[in-house]
Amino acid sequence: MNDDQLLRYSRHILLPQIGIQGQETLIRSHVLVVGAGGLGSPAAMYLAASGVGRLTICDNDTVDLTNLQRQIAHSMDCIGKPKVNSVKKALAGINPEVEVVALNERVDEKSLIQLVNEADAVVDASDNFPTRYAINRVCLSQKKPLVSGAVVRFEGQVAVFDLRHPEGPCYHCLFPEYGDDQDMRCAVMGVFAPLVGVIGSIQAAETLKILLGIGRTLNGRLLLLDGLSMEWRTIRLNKDFKCVVCNQGEKVHASIKNGSSAIV
Ligand SMILES: [Zn+2]
Repeated sequence: MNDDQLLRYSRHILLPQIGIQGQETLIRSHVLVVGAGGLGSPAAMYLAASGVGRLTICDNDTVDLTNLQRQIAHSMDCIGKPKVNSVKKALAGINPEVEVVALNERVDEKSLIQLVNEADAVVDASDNFPTRYAINRVCLSQKKPLVSGAVVRFEGQVAVFDLRHPEGPCYHCLFPEYGDDQDMRCAVMGVFAPLVGVIGSIQAAETLKILLGIGRTLNGRLLLLDGLSMEWRTIRLNKDFKCVVCNQGEKVHASIKNGSSAIV
């Protein structure tokens, strides 16, 4: 690190759990953030401010006046422009040292394969179930840690699925896919603005802890916030041994390990 970096990150370096070595780890790290809205804005801003060296941000939406109530990376002059360009501009203003790759596209399972492969951790800040399930499947197959968050109305939730360890649950264990339309988007349901800031910031914190290997993450735990009573609850998440996503993967994996090519 040069003198400017030592100054910029001095309040991290002062923390014995981070120090110079930890900060250098963050500078070498690459995080994929899917979604540049209410959760993606604070998550990406804190990751950039914290000095994560490379951020890839995907979103195919453009900035709308209704977004500005809670999506704090965007500003008036970006209305009508792609959200990823707006976020990239905001992040460059905070920390120009961060390399930001802005992808103006809606990711699917196919495009996620390479994106997840290149990342050390994935932040799911998307607003729809098909994308969430696709991120989970790809993170599971590539054994990448997934930091998941969601907010609707006055309720927020955040969880970590550290899929480097197959004994833990995956996102699908928690929210099985029933094939019906489960979308509860902010666009229809309404959302209390500061809650996305709270949950997105926790997603950034958990991502940094994963990259640094410090503390105890929310792996296998779901943290729930009721914004009206401002009460938190933690629910322990168990692996669903009937989960068709993570258990199927294990069986295939096990059969390959045993020298059999059969898919069981
Ligand atoms: Zn599962």
